Amino acid sequence: MSRMLLAPGRYVQGAGAIKEIGWHTSRFGTCAMVIGGNTALSVCGPDIEASLAEKGISCHLESFRGVSSQQEIRRLAGITAANRGDVIIALGGGASIDAGKAVAHEMKLPVVVVPTVISTDAPCSALSVVYSESGVFERYLLLRKNPDCVLVDTTLVVGAPARFLVAGMGDALATFWESDTCSRSGRPNPLTGGGSPTLAAGALSRLCYETLLESGVQAKLAVEKQVVTPAVDAIIEANTLLSGLSSENGGHAGAHSIHNGLTTLPAVKQRLHGEKVAFGVIAQLVLEVRSSPVIKEVQDFCYSVGLPLCLEDLDCVNPTTEELRQVAIAAVAEGETVHATWFPVTAVMVEAAIRIADALGTRYKKALL
Ligand SMILES: [Zn+2]
Repeated sequence: MSRMLLAPGRYVQGAGAIKEIGWHTSRFGTCAMVIGGNTALSVCGPDIEASLAEKGISCHLESFRGVSSQQEIRRLAGITAANRGDVIIALGGGASIDAGKAVAHEMKLPVVVVPTVISTDAPCSALSVVYSESGVFERYLLLRKNPDCVLVDTTLVVGAPARFLVAGMGDALATFWESDTCSRSGRPNPLTGGGSPTLAAGALSRLCYETLLESGVQAKLAVEKQVVTPAVDAIIEANTLLSGLSSENGGHAGAHSIHNGLTTLPAVKQRLHGEKVAFGVIAQLVLEVRSSPVIKEVQDFCYSVGLPLCLEDLDCVNPTTEELRQVAIAAVAEGETVHATWFPVTAVMVEAAIRIADALGTRYKKALL
């Protein structure tokens, strides 16, 4: 199939960028439906209203109820229709952005995405996750198009706990290694409908990885002190734009499947997506028999920013054989992206890779004592 690159219509990033939202939104509509959690609405609502008013755009602010479920998407779509909204602004963390993108998709309206925490690479993608009312994963909703605009105000991001940006680095860490696996195997990428990756996607994934290694530690320290520095800017772009574009266009592989397997363990429930993915990257590298210096480089990075190196770091202490088997079986379920690897992968192989990755991480930490 032909080469393909999916991307948002425009990407905006800067300190105070929220004050420019009226200018960007004026390209898409005149009546905005702003969807966000209570905290995000109280922090950004006044600036958004003022900026939209400057451009003559009316708006309705609506509180997101916490779960991106079909019922919540339908409720928000009903309110958008009642207010004659012609553009959606989706504000906040992953769940409200998923819901906002889904509302725009169902109503065939443009959407401006405003992430206020950068803990995953999802803001730029043409994908929403839909959950049941009780918050259990239900399905992926493939959207007709990527967001019309993604706007990141870096001052909002440094106001959130550093753990979120670090988790975003864990998700971004997977990008280069997973796209490398997909390009080696040449398997079709379901996120682009089977398109082959462009040279651009490959270059972006490499730049994403290099940026993490170069600026990750400094960015973490800066966010802990709540200051925007060039390193913070670089990492926000790596986590959001570089990782978003290259993972969507390059494809997922073992790391995300191992993450999915780990979600079957109640012990790791409190851990963020990117934290589990980071351990999944190390296990993927072991599974693929990558060289020791490569694994060490990734471990060094994880340690330097505080990402997990072993199962204990994910709150999974002394897992039983059955538990690890269950993780591995879930990781190789039909449709899982681990099957994008260039050789056939079985549950036995994944279980062994998780055990070795865990042992390597434990050894790494012991050597530091
Ligand atoms: Zn991810």
